[in-house]
Amino acid sequence: SNGVTGTLDTLIIGGGQAGLALGHYLKEQNRTFLILDAHPRTGDAWRQRWDSLRVFTPAKFDGLPGVPFPGDPLSFPTKDEIAAYLEGYAARLDLPLLNGVRVQRLWREPDRFIAAANGRRWQAHNVVVATGCSQAPKVPGFAADLGPGVVQFHSSEYRNDQQLQDGPVLVVGLGNSGAEIALEVSRKHSTIVAGKPTGELPVKHGPTAAKYFLPLVRFVGLYVLTLGTPFGRKAAPFFHAHGTPLIRTKSKDLADAGVQLVPRVAGVRDGLPVLEDGTRLDVANVIWCTGYRDDFSWIDPAMLDDGALPTQQRGAAVGTPGLFFLGQEFMYAAASATLPGVCRDARHLAGRIPAPVSSGAAASA
Ligand code: FAD
Repeated sequence: SNGVTGTLDTLIIGGGQAGLALGHYLKEQNRTFLILDAHPRTGDAWRQRWDSLRVFTPAKFDGLPGVPFPGDPLSFPTKDEIAAYLEGYAARLDLPLLNGVRVQRLWREPDRFIAAANGRRWQAHNVVVATGCSQAPKVPGFAADLGPGVVQFHSSEYRNDQQLQDGPVLVVGLGNSGAEIALEVSRKHSTIVAGKPTGELPVKHGPTAAKYFLPLVRFVGLYVLTLGTPFGRKAAPFFHAHGTPLIRTKSKDLADAGVQLVPRVAGVRDGLPVLEDGTRLDVANVIWCTGYRDDFSWIDPAMLDDGALPTQQRGAAVGTPGLFFLGQEFMYAAASATLPGVCRDARHLAGRIPAPVSSGAAASA
């Protein structure tokens, strides 16, 4: 069982791809560690995304260390296939993992970290926060002023177009989620997307791109756009502010499907959304594809930077020895929060997490 009593070498909080990849490397080193995850089942973060979602990364880049992703390497797995792969990965590697545990508090005592959840406590010399970068949906405050007749929700709650009522749909935000959801809902609804595109990959997404072009994108995202290169250091603030360029669904695909592209939404007037240019949109549905923000509210603020990710070097929190982060956007490279990127970051981190000097108390998992 995972009835840990002593002080762990390392506690990993979050058992998505980031926590699992790191688990693989720690296991290789025979370290004493435990992964805690809030969801009942490994892979649930993917299962809960919208029904038709397929990853934009080809299968050959979706595997975690040691276990290639099954099937055609040039195909793009569904979100449920990713979830099943992650669940199988944890089982096959027999990683010490406790599901259904949401850590509610994390703090440091002089010689160790303490994590608390539902009246239970775990102690560890090192803690890795691998809770993902899609924890708290970000929706503008004026969303609350939309009239009660408008159906509205965030992209994290979108499953399929049956959640919509009759009438036009406004998708707010032209990132990858906004573009893909807009294309899908445009099959049955007149659809408007509000937002500014942040660029797009210059080739058609598909198996041919998976063979020739996406390996190049992966290389750039992993090795060129990193905090170790002048290019990367310039690009990082842009990525943080704007997100990634459109990968599969481009502006032209949207235009071909009859989707109208309009400027950003600036507020709400008389219960309806208003654009920056003052136009009021008489829509029946609004889907906020406005991204996510950090939620580190459960971590002792003394270990954070104004409630946000503290200054870190390739995942190691500079001000708190023993505290690490993994899987956040552009932690080291543009690809840091993706399946291919997190594996490299995890391998690096596993070499940096100090092994406790004979901690004495062993833990069984
Ligand atoms: P998550 O998968 O979010 O896992 C974090 C885990 O931490 C969760 O299981 C959660 O339950 C747990 N957790 C959170 N808080 C706590 C707590 N306090 N205590 C305990 N456990 C906690 N990447 C690609 O490479 N290719 C793609 O095609 C791709 N498509 C994406 C599509 C969408 C719509 C989104 C949102 C992201 C996509 N990504 C893609 C990016 C990235 O791969 C995913 O976001 C991925 O889920 C991140 O993995 P993770 O392990 O960092 O975080």
